[in-house]
Amino acid sequence: MTQTADVVVIGGGVIGLAIAWNLTEQQQRILVVEKHQPGQEASSAAAGILAVSSGRSRQGPVYQLKRASQALYPALVEEIEQRSGLSVEYQTAGVLDLLRTEADEQKYREIYQLRREQGSAAAWLSAAEVRRLEPHLTTDLRGAVHFPDDHHLNNGKLAEAWANAVVQRGATIRTDATVTEARIGNGKVTAVRIGDEWISTNTVVIAAGSWSQQVGEVFGLTIPVQPAKGQMMSVRSTLVRHVISWDDHYLVPRKNGEVVIGSTVEFVGYDKDVSLATLRALIDRSVVLVPELRSTPLHRFWAGLRPYSPSRRPILCRAPGLENVILATGHHRNGIVMAPMTGKLIAELITTGTPSMSLEPFALPLEPVPPPPEGESPDEAD
Ligand SMILES: Cc1cc2nc3c(=O)[nH]c(=O)nc-3n(C[C@H](O)[C@H](O)[C@H](O)COP(=O)(O)OP(=O)(O)OC[C@H]3O[C@@H](n4cnc5c(N)ncnc54)[C@H](O)[C@@H]3O)c2cc1C
Repeated sequence: MTQTADVVVIGGGVIGLAIAWNLTEQQQRILVVEKHQPGQEASSAAAGILAVSSGRSRQGPVYQLKRASQALYPALVEEIEQRSGLSVEYQTAGVLDLLRTEADEQKYREIYQLRREQGSAAAWLSAAEVRRLEPHLTTDLRGAVHFPDDHHLNNGKLAEAWANAVVQRGATIRTDATVTEARIGNGKVTAVRIGDEWISTNTVVIAAGSWSQQVGEVFGLTIPVQPAKGQMMSVRSTLVRHVISWDDHYLVPRKNGEVVIGSTVEFVGYDKDVSLATLRALIDRSVVLVPELRSTPLHRFWAGLRPYSPSRRPILCRAPGLENVILATGHHRNGIVMAPMTGKLIAELITTGTPSMSLEPFALPLEPVPPPPEGESPDEAD
C-alpha cells in the first residue's frame, strides 16, 4: 500500500523536529524519518548554549539568524514543556566570558562595544564583580564580560520534549528507518521508499545533520556537509552558576547538578571516540578556571558530530534541480540556538514560498569555498 505525507522530513535532530513542529502548526501531514531515535546525535551531544552576543558571528546573516532564533526560545520552551510535560531546564544566568590577559581585554573591548550598539545588555565586570557572581573562580582574573541574554538549556531534554510535542501535534516519527530510494519525475520527487513501503509526498526535507551528504546521494545531490567532532565530558558539581567561557573552553552548569565541559573541533570523519589525552586537556583547562573542580566526581564523557558546511553558514534552500526537495543542514556549532528560526523559515518556504527572512545567504555552496578572511572565525561567517 502506498501511503501519503505532505512533507517527509529526513532526520529527527533538533533541526528536523523544529521544521516538523512549525509544519504541524500549518495542519500539514508530516512524516519524520529517523535512522535511530530522535535527538540522539549532535542534538543531545551539544552544550546547549544559546550564544548570540557571546558568539563568534558579528553582524551579518548568521548573527541575524541566531538573534531572531534566540528570541523565539522563551515562548517555544513554554509551549513544548506544557505539551510534553517535560522540563528542558532553561536557565537565564547568561554567559561570562572571562578576561584573564591583556589580549583578552583588547579583543573584548571591540566586541563589547559592538554588542552594546546592537542592543545587548552585555556588562563589563571587574574581577571583584565576577567573583561575587562566581565565588569559586580563579583569582587569576582581570574581569569578565557578562552576556545576560545568552541563556542555556539541557539540549538532550529539549530534543526529547520536542519530539514528544511534535507527535502530540499530529506528526508521525518513524524511528530506526531511512529513505533508500526516490521516485523522481519532471524535476520533482513524487515518492520515497522506506523499507518495503513507498510514501508519496509533495515535499522532502533533508535535515540529517552530519549525514546529509549520504542522504543527498539518494536524490542525486551533492551536499558538502562534513562531521566536525566535539569531545565533551561532565562532572557532578554545583560550583558554577553561569556558563563560564575562556579561550574557546566552556563550563556549562545544568539544573540536574551536572557541569558540562567542552570541547574540541576535529575533522576526523565519523569517529566518536573520546581520548584520554583530550579528557586530560579538558580537565586541566577547567581546573585552571575553577580550582576546586579538581576534586569533583567525573560524571560522563561523549563525543558528537557537528554538521559543518564549508560556507560556514547553515544551508537552507531548495535543492538545485529538484524544486520540492529542501535542504536544512550545516548548522555546525549553532544548531541548538538556530533551530527555532530554521524551523519557522523552512516551514514558510514550504507553505507560502516566501520566508520572513531572506534565505539567499544560506545557499548550497556549489564551488570550493575560499578560506575565511583575516579576522573571521573558521567556524562561522559574518
Ligand atoms: C560537542 C558539541 C557541542 C555543541 N554545542 C552547541 C551549543 O552550545 N549551542 C548550539 O547552538 N549548538 C551546539 N552544537 C551544535 C548542535 O548540536 C548542532 O548544530 C545541531 O544539533 C544540529 O542538529 P541537526 O538536527 O542538524 O543534527 P543531528 O542532531 O545530528 O540530527 C541529525 C539526525 O539525522 C539522523 N539521520 C542520519 N542519517 C539518516 C538517514 N539516512 N535517515 C534518517 N535519519 C538520518 C541522525 O540519526 C540524527 O538523529 C554542539 C554540537 C556538538 C557536537
